[in-house]
Amino acid sequence: MGRFIRIVNPKIYKERNKIIVDEFSKGHSAAAIGRNLGMSRERICQIIYQETGLAPREHLLKRTLALQNKSIEVTKRNCRYCDTLFSPSMSRHVYCSKNCRDTKVRLDQRVKDITFICNQCNKSYHPQRSSANKFAAGELIKAFCSNSCYTKAGRGNK
Ligand SMILES: [Zn+2]
Ligand SMILES: [Zn+2]
Repeated sequence: MGRFIRIVNPKIYKERNKIIVDEFSKGHSAAAIGRNLGMSRERICQIIYQETGLAPREHLLKRTLALQNKSIEVTKRNCRYCDTLFSPSMSRHVYCSKNCRDTKVRLDQRVKDITFICNQCNKSYHPQRSSANKFAAGELIKAFCSNSCYTKAGRGNK
């Protein structure tokens, strides 16, 4: 009778660690949690790392980044090409999709002050910079408004 047996129940530690992670995720600092539980700040940091795979410092960084992303998300903008309203994942994004960006870039590369007549469909169009350069150098004899006209013309010649 009266023998004191110290039982270390891993469940209790699990519970405690859960409380530590909870408190930390609520925004309490490792130092404050340590003060409440009578543990060192370093021990709290270790437990947070052990339980979540991220050190408190990394958690804070993640939180900061998440907040930044959120503020970007709410500032929707119109795609500079198709005018669709979208949420840019990066503040510098001005196109809703890679497709819109590529198309716009291709259009911008066209030379606006030169007009070619398509050899296949007779439509007038602004050539790409590379075609205009070839034309200026006397290399380009036949010009086509699109790849499909180019292909059609190729087939017609055969
Ligand atoms: Zn777009
Ligand atoms: Zn054409």
